[in-house]
Amino acid sequence: MRVLVAGLALGLTLGTGSLAGAPAYADRSDVLARTPAQPLAGRLVVLDPGHQLGNQNFPRQVGRPVPDGRGGRKPCNTTGTATNAGLPEATFVWRVARLVQARLERLGATVELTRSSNSLDEWGPCVDARGRAGNRAKADLELSIHADGSLKRGARGFHVIAAPDRGRASVRLARETRDVLEHRGLRAANYIAGGDGLDLRTDLATLNLSRVPTAMVELGNMRDRVDARRMTTGAGRAAYATALTRAVLRYLG
Ligand SMILES: [Zn+2]
Repeated sequence: MRVLVAGLALGLTLGTGSLAGAPAYADRSDVLARTPAQPLAGRLVVLDPGHQLGNQNFPRQVGRPVPDGRGGRKPCNTTGTATNAGLPEATFVWRVARLVQARLERLGATVELTRSSNSLDEWGPCVDARGRAGNRAKADLELSIHADGSLKRGARGFHVIAAPDRGRASVRLARETRDVLEHRGLRAANYIAGGDGLDLRTDLATLNLSRVPTAMVELGNMRDRVDARRMTTGAGRAAYATALTRAVLRYLG
């Protein structure tokens, strides 16, 4: 039923030609023919691209304490890390998130991002707002996308983080995301305790403040030569995006 409603809504939108640049399909059969390929119709996904490119320019705002979801407070945000060649984490995760958004929307999902730009002139949002983003929207899930910056020699690979006391759904989302990333040929981090690509933590406000299934993925170690190469190429970012899309599809499917 949700699929049908979404299909009709899409038909109306396209019929009025209100989508800029989109062809105006007068024939509803065209729209209905696509719905089987939209397994995420009616689903709402929040993507949280970590940090903001301009955080470094707003130290006062970014350093302001906000609730950490454990009764304490922590800084609004941080600048994030970067590759040794200078690709900022904020830019890398922004690009990946936009690719994931496009893929999910093609599958019928509605996607909300926690920030609408990647700009040197902007900062935030703070981690508490990021954590609550899915609650307000009643999202089916939230995925926070980051990359790590370990200086440990040879440290590479991805890991997925969940807060274990915030519900089994979040742990399942993290575990399934880990499984899909590995299945897509990405290697689990060799420098995180356990070595299985899964990290259960209770110190991250983004995870603590969420009331919907939420996981944070550290796609790799930006300071590592091998991981940085993948992050720096369009093909590499597309591979990350496809893997994350598959993870959402698996969890919601
Ligand atoms: Zn980060």
